[in-house]
Amino acid sequence: MSSIKSVDPLLKVENLTTRFDISNGFFSGISGRVHAVENISFNIDESETLSLVGESGCGKSTTGRSILRLVPITKGKIYFKDKEISNLGSVEMRNYRKNIQMIFQDPFSSLNPRMSVGNAIAEPMKVHGLHEGKELQEKVYNLLVDVGLSPKHSKRYPHEFSGGQRQRIAIARSIILNPKFMILDEPTSALDRSIQIQVIDVLKRLQDKYKLTYLFTSHDLKVIRSMCD
Ligand code: ADP
Repeated sequence: MSSIKSVDPLLKVENLTTRFDISNGFFSGISGRVHAVENISFNIDESETLSLVGESGCGKSTTGRSILRLVPITKGKIYFKDKEISNLGSVEMRNYRKNIQMIFQDPFSSLNPRMSVGNAIAEPMKVHGLHEGKELQEKVYNLLVDVGLSPKHSKRYPHEFSGGQRQRIAIARSIILNPKFMILDEPTSALDRSIQIQVIDVLKRLQDKYKLTYLFTSHDLKVIRSMCD
């Protein structure tokens, strides 16, 4: 029997609209509304990189947060592997969140300054009650090598690293649960050009090795050109 490859996109976004109500204070009710994302649609195939490019404030982060359901969607539908995500039950939602990870511009926001790098990378595994002990340590060491660092860095703390190295650590942490899809929200915008190129190389290598699908946002067309399909 021959195997049939799925031709459906991994992620399908249809007419996504996300608006935020603004209130001036606890008693004053709603005083305005920000139209952060208005009626956008796109598909992303497996192992593909799709970029959202636009100036600051145009709604790139809100699009990523809407896909992860970190903010409530006003209108539209999001399908992951053909399943509409607003219909997911709690177990399916947990699985969905395991499959989709987000990397932010500032890696400090996702790294606890009091946690060693090794523990920070291993933490998602522990939260999900997955591997422990030697096996987990081995996995952390391999991921450090994958992102161009070394196992000996696992004992150090985030403040001992440069911005580019901290972003590599955040990337290692985000792929430990074997996600399928990554939202890379301006992941290189806080870095110098030469460091940007190195981090992009790491992201491309990981995409190949782990068959990752990326939604990549940036305000910088040079970065977009070097990253995208
Ligand atoms: P970008 O990522 O392109 O810089 P954002 O998605 O962060 O843009 O923001 C789009 C718009 O939505 C901006 O005007 C921003 O101020 C507004 N916005 C984002 N998050 C919120 C929120 N939680 N509450 C109110 N307004 C928000």
